[in-house]
Amino acid sequence: MTVGRFAPSPSGRMHLGNVFTALLAWLSVRSQDGKMLLRIEDLDPDRSKRAYITALREDLCWLGLDWDEEMPLQSTRGAVYTKAFSQLDTYPCYCKRSELHDASAPHASDGTFIYAGTCRNLTDAERADKQRKPAWRVRVPEETVSFCDGVFGTQEEKLAEECGDFIVRRSDGVYAYQLAVVCDDALGGVTEVVRGSDLLGSTARQIWLYRTLGFPVPQFYHVPLLVAPDGKRLSKREKSLDMAHLREKYTPETLLGRLAHIAGLTETDAPIAARELINQFSWEKIDREMRVIPTDF
Ligand code: GLU
Repeated sequence: MTVGRFAPSPSGRMHLGNVFTALLAWLSVRSQDGKMLLRIEDLDPDRSKRAYITALREDLCWLGLDWDEEMPLQSTRGAVYTKAFSQLDTYPCYCKRSELHDASAPHASDGTFIYAGTCRNLTDAERADKQRKPAWRVRVPEETVSFCDGVFGTQEEKLAEECGDFIVRRSDGVYAYQLAVVCDDALGGVTEVVRGSDLLGSTARQIWLYRTLGFPVPQFYHVPLLVAPDGKRLSKREKSLDMAHLREKYTPETLLGRLAHIAGLTETDAPIAARELINQFSWEKIDREMRVIPTDF
């Protein structure tokens, strides 16, 4: 059976881009009679707010995007991440952000630095000398990860060269998104991951973690980003496109009608309920082109 998920972060009110992704994730699962999970990513305690968690559930209900099960909050799953972490070949990294910057390594596809390996082979004495709490990096092999994304097609990353050893636990003790997302989706039995194409660059790393931890790898679908009429990425700062404002301006049907049309699922942007879109959905209709939203959205 297909198992999909919504994995929103409660760091703000849901935004038009999140609604677009949630709609496609939901349609994919419902069109295959699968199971939908809600998995709230409140990993970062500084950025997650309880009020946003409540609002997320309400906004999804308002849209008519239901789920069959809610997974435990990430903030309660430290033991799961600790276990996975202990199975990885990790080492402490004492580099400061500015030092990473100075090493002027090229950027990985998601904008993070390709780690130069500065702390990879420190001796115990050198580690004892450092006066700061380390982050933890996982040692990646000289390996090429390839996968076929359901929207973006064949993708390939040379892990060591194009990504480098990456952080799986931050210096404040919080486990990194890369590790948590893999553990959570694997333990939830997720078979397909639908999310924004801003995360395409993280996927090779995550697939490598799935394999290293002995988990089956799900199918990935990265959905095109929505962009403003001037071509710029929609930002969470544009309050007029968050759900508080969208719910004042639209009904669920008028909002989904416009989004379904932008996605390429329907001929017109006539109002339509989520469940009426199920039999119009097909991944073949979703290409990788960014979607420019109309000026009057
Ligand atoms: N929590 C992430 C977001 O809201 C999505 C992570 C994922 O789907 O893997 O953008």
